[in-house]
Amino acid sequence: MECPFCESSFLNAVFAESQNFMAAYNLAPILPGHVLIVPKNHIESILDLSDDDLSEMMIFSRKVTKLLLRVFKAEAFDWSIQDQEAAGQTISHLHMHIVPRIKGDLKDPGDWYPKINENYKVLLDSDKREKLSNEEIKRVVSRLRDLSHNEGNNSKV
Ligand SMILES: [Zn+2]
Repeated sequence: MECPFCESSFLNAVFAESQNFMAAYNLAPILPGHVLIVPKNHIESILDLSDDDLSEMMIFSRKVTKLLLRVFKAEAFDWSIQDQEAAGQTISHLHMHIVPRIKGDLKDPGDWYPKINENYKVLLDSDKREKLSNEEIKRVVSRLRDLSHNEGNNSKV
């Protein structure tokens, strides 16, 4: 199966990067500000990361989360990794979901989790309608790129 995160078109959704990781806007966000943190290389499991890479991933994710909380006026957030098929990993390229949260955004605060699983069907099926339009993606990604750039999140070496 092709890996959606290794396709060059995936870069259209990327708005910030560290040396080895990228932050990309989810093409079918379950809530505003739903972002994916993915390694630039096709690494399947968090267990395959070196200590340095794991540390980089967490620090980068926290930076991105702070930006998202500000931009989407959120007060809380969920982080989620599904690692290996038995845990629900459907794309074999490590990725962490960041979902900014606002009080009352979902009927029950825990409702975000089943939505994450539905999200994969949308991401993997290009004909699904719930996706943002190309224009919407462009708008949100370019806004996040500007803000992220101003904060020095694009520490490309
Ligand atoms: Zn990949």
